[in-house]
Amino acid sequence: MASANGQFHAHADATQSRAQAPRRIVLLGATGSIGRSTVDIVERSPEGFSVAAVAGGRDVEALARVARAVRAEFAAIRDESAYGALKEALSGTNIQVGAGREAVIEAALREADLVVSAIVGAAGVEPTYAALAAGRDVALANKECLVCAGVPFMRTAAEMGVRLLPMDSEHNAIFQALGGEDPSRIERMIITASGGPFRTWSRERIAEASVEEALNHPNWAMGPKITVDSAGMMNKGLELIEAHHLFGVPSEKLDVVVHPQSIVHGLVAFSDGSVTAGLAVPDMRTPIAHCLGYPDRLTTPTPRLDLAKIASLTFEAPDFERFPALKLALEALRVGGGLPTVLNAANEIAVAAFLDRRISFDGISRHVADACEAAMRDGTANAPESVEDALAVDHIVRERSRSALAGHAASGMLTLQ
Ligand code: NAD
Ligand code: MG
Repeated sequence: MASANGQFHAHADATQSRAQAPRRIVLLGATGSIGRSTVDIVERSPEGFSVAAVAGGRDVEALARVARAVRAEFAAIRDESAYGALKEALSGTNIQVGAGREAVIEAALREADLVVSAIVGAAGVEPTYAALAAGRDVALANKECLVCAGVPFMRTAAEMGVRLLPMDSEHNAIFQALGGEDPSRIERMIITASGGPFRTWSRERIAEASVEEALNHPNWAMGPKITVDSAGMMNKGLELIEAHHLFGVPSEKLDVVVHPQSIVHGLVAFSDGSVTAGLAVPDMRTPIAHCLGYPDRLTTPTPRLDLAKIASLTFEAPDFERFPALKLALEALRVGGGLPTVLNAANEIAVAAFLDRRISFDGISRHVADACEAAMRDGTANAPESVEDALAVDHIVRERSRSALAGHAASGMLTLQ
């Protein structure tokens, strides 16, 4: 039987009853790019979902708008000083309001069938982990969770028997391409990269790229941090680490191929020579809808794939010389331990400094390299045993990176030399 609005297809008995009741979700990072796309899908299926809580960082107006739009029961804002403003913005509704770190964690812990983790950066680790540890299924857009604390995250997910659904497009494509097969039969797992705005640029030109140039992604409209990560291909490096943890595949079996059209998102090569791939028009609403509906299928308004119209799909090897951030992340993946945690924290601070026009574009990867070397020397990069350990390393590296980059006045002209 289909649900009242016809969004759900008839399915096996077990999923039928699941599809009939609205699925309760929590949306962490509700005001961001993924958050807004998630809201778009939810709004198109008003009888399919109920929203237990939404959480955002600082933007009171945007959070109040989202909370009203999805009729959330609880809205949490990370900025503690924004409580009054949010309360005011939601007056006349019965939406409960909270502010500060604890409130975001409270949002993550509200009773729900699925928690969408779409806060940017390691700020997403604590609330996402709280949800996981409480036994909630999680749809993971926030890749930094697994880069910062992959081992304890996956351990807790397994212990709690929760579902960690990949919302990142490449991992979502691979999850679908895997089709539930035994990951030990995999020979290679390949994620594609668009190559970003600097795909054809020389190393010298990339080094001096402006903030505007770095934010000008050819295929995807995303938040500023991931867009800068994509321009330097750090994003692909973070995604390799993410894939390693999510699918339990060792680094030797993981590969990146540059594919400027962003139609093929991920591929899996099996021991018999078969290769399966996940394809879709680049629109995050497709992997988001896949996670929100799973194991059913929702219907999305995204453009449909027309291969004859696209005519040609091209692929090329990544260039580690022009994109040193990719090499650094691969190195961190191979070395393991706490090095990915260090890489992630240093990268977040360096990207913020670049967006603030305090360092040059190539200053980002140079700073990350320096931070990784220092952490290897002094033991900061030792393997974190727990999420708390990983967050402690994250905190130390952030502080160090902040002071290392503090001397760089905002001008847009300075480099890290
Ligand atoms: P964004 O900058 O557009 O949004 C970030 C969200 O996090 C906002 O709602 C913001 O208010 C919230 N936030 C920031 N700091 C917070 C804090 N300390 N506490 C609580 N909330 C906080 O980012 P985005 O592009 O939506 O990306 C979100 C995550 O999803 C990132 O980890 C990114 O790598 C991943 N992702 C994004 C895309 C995409 O297309 N945008 C694709 C794949 C994966
Ligand atoms: Mg991705």
